[in-house]
Amino acid sequence: MSKICDVCGLPEELCVCEEIAREVQTVKVFTVRRRFGKLMTIIEGIDEHDIDIKELTKTLKAKCACGGTSKNGQIELQGGHKVRVKEVLSDMGFSSDTIEIRESKKNNKKRRR
Ligand SMILES: [Zn+2]
Repeated sequence: MSKICDVCGLPEELCVCEEIAREVQTVKVFTVRRRFGKLMTIIEGIDEHDIDIKELTKTLKAKCACGGTSKNGQIELQGGHKVRVKEVLSDMGFSSDTIEIRESKKNNKKRRR
C-alpha cells in the first residue's frame, strides 16, 4: 500500500506535486561577502512546503562540490556558484525562467551603525 498525496490525491509514486512546484518557484540566487571576505552563494525563495530543501541542499553541495547549509527556507553554499546553481536547478526541473540571478550589491550606501 502506498501513501496517497493529500494535495493531488495520487499515490505517492505518481505524485507530481513537487515537480509542479519546482516549475513555479521563483528562486533568487545571489552572492554575499561574509566576515573575513568569505563569499557565499545564497538561494532564496524555495518553498519548504513543496520542496524538500534538505535534499536540494545536499544535491547542490554535491554538484558544486562545496559545503553549505539550509535554514529558514534559504540555502547557503560556500563560495561563488551562481551560474552553476542555476544549471543544477534547471536540470532538476526548476524552470530557468523563474531562477533569477541577482548581481551582488557593490556599493552599500547605507551603512549599519
Ligand atoms: Zn501530489
